[in-house]
Amino acid sequence: MLVSKNSYMYEMIRSELTDIVGSEYVCTCAADKLGHSIDYYWIPEMWHDRGMETPKPDFVIHPGSTEEVAKILKLANHYHIPVVPWGGGSGSQGGALPIFGGIILDMKRMNKIIRIDRESLTVTCQAGIIAQHLEWSCNKEGFSTMHLPASISCATIGGFLAHRGTGVLSTKYGKIEDMVLSLEVVTPTGEIIRTLPVPRHASGPDLTLLFTGSEGTLGIITEATLKIHPEPEAREFRAYIFKDFHTAMAAGADLMRSRLQPSAIRLYDETETVTHVRKVFGMDLAKGAYMVFGFDGRKDITACQMKYAREIMENKYNGQDLGSKGGDLWWDNKYKFFYPGYIFHLPQAYGTLDTVATFDKIEDVYWAMKKVVTENFPQARFIGHFSHWYDWGCMLYARFIFEPQDVPKDPREAVALYNRVWNLAIRAAIANGGVINEHHGVGIKLGHLMKELYGPAMPVLEGIKKQLDPNNIMNPGKMGFKGV
Ligand SMILES: Cc1cc2nc3c(=O)[nH]c(=O)nc-3n(C[C@H](O)[C@H](O)[C@H](O)COP(=O)(O)OP(=O)(O)OC[C@H]3O[C@@H](n4cnc5c(N)ncnc54)[C@H](O)[C@@H]3O)c2cc1C
Repeated sequence: MLVSKNSYMYEMIRSELTDIVGSEYVCTCAADKLGHSIDYYWIPEMWHDRGMETPKPDFVIHPGSTEEVAKILKLANHYHIPVVPWGGGSGSQGGALPIFGGIILDMKRMNKIIRIDRESLTVTCQAGIIAQHLEWSCNKEGFSTMHLPASISCATIGGFLAHRGTGVLSTKYGKIEDMVLSLEVVTPTGEIIRTLPVPRHASGPDLTLLFTGSEGTLGIITEATLKIHPEPEAREFRAYIFKDFHTAMAAGADLMRSRLQPSAIRLYDETETVTHVRKVFGMDLAKGAYMVFGFDGRKDITACQMKYAREIMENKYNGQDLGSKGGDLWWDNKYKFFYPGYIFHLPQAYGTLDTVATFDKIEDVYWAMKKVVTENFPQARFIGHFSHWYDWGCMLYARFIFEPQDVPKDPREAVALYNRVWNLAIRAAIANGGVINEHHGVGIKLGHLMKELYGPAMPVLEGIKKQLDPNNIMNPGKMGFKGV
């Protein structure tokens, strides 16, 4: 709490906020504050679960227009109050948490679709729209955003842009930063700006990409224009087993180098393979690595792509074809957080250590992370799969899980254990050619590692932040930037 609740300053700020958005949209009740003090980061969830007080905002504001957002930021600058944008609160890095109090700007009232352009194949929407609502509206017109993440029903387009999120078909259609053409942004000082409304240009650096991934630290994304695609005529998946993880990784990299353009590749490490294959096919394997991949588009072209891909898998890497069942089941369950069914929940401790590297380094990253977690925390389980593939490398979605009996009862000790796992694992990733994160962002969880990743380039980011946000009101203390 920045301003004492019983002070006249607090009432002055409240009345000015009310004048901007209307009293209905200025919330100060305990339930609203609690709901906006916990996102999907394990630490605040655990902290609350153990009866500890989570840092609360002073005000939860629901703006209805870009102009209202601009007025709120001008007010916040005047009073030097932190402002934290909140989308769906599904982020796993603590990025939307009001760690210094101030204003939470819940963007979900700004949920309109402004235009579907059938000629250029773009959609323009307000940033507070839930991704599933946008997708359904596009589907009704025969299109898809092809942004299909597991959190599609609980996260906003603004949140995905702020975290550079990704969906299950990213291997063909890209991450959200590959889908966005232009943005409307309210800068920290309350100016409304638009980035150039073209897909690519050579008219100076690309401001669309500057704000994409900025986690609410450089401004508030209020509107976005994204690519859309016709719904494909055909969609085919297939599952394969390879003799070991190394062979399967080589096969996946080869498929990407072939430029056949798969829509998805999912490769499971040997530990996950055993569970997966047992649950899906009822088969018990001693060793092996399981992969699902697929194609979509015109039926004849998809069939042709699949034919050549199968030749690579079978003739070059001796993959065992398990048919389409495994792939189809995976597609039907694509929004399940973990498929086949497995739920993580408190009092377990768990985290997703996702990172990305080029093909020549990705296996080293995997083994280094696994080693550091299992050697330092023998009580933890470590599993991983590789779910987003690029022409030059792929993403590792690694997980650690502690069972309840291995998580300290004292919440402070639990924080320390959790933090240690992250620090060791992410440093191992960086040391071997990986990065802090691939699609979940940085937030408070990993902010302290940004200087290690960026080295002498970090002051460049800090300089941009300082220039845009002289009073440091926008989401302070996140993404490695200083707090208040
Ligand atoms: C079950 C589950 C499955 C998930 N699966 C995926 C997945 O498949 N792919 C994936 O990428 N992620 C996934 N996530 C993570 C999460 O959904 C993403 O990180 C998503 O981008 C968060 O969006 P949100 O709207 O919930 O944002 P929030 O959590 O509310 O905020 C995230 C960050 O964005 C900032 N922000 C929010 N809105 C704006 C805005 N309009 N302008 C500027 N900054 C803003 C916030 O300040 C914060 O820093 C999953 C999460 C869960 C709980």
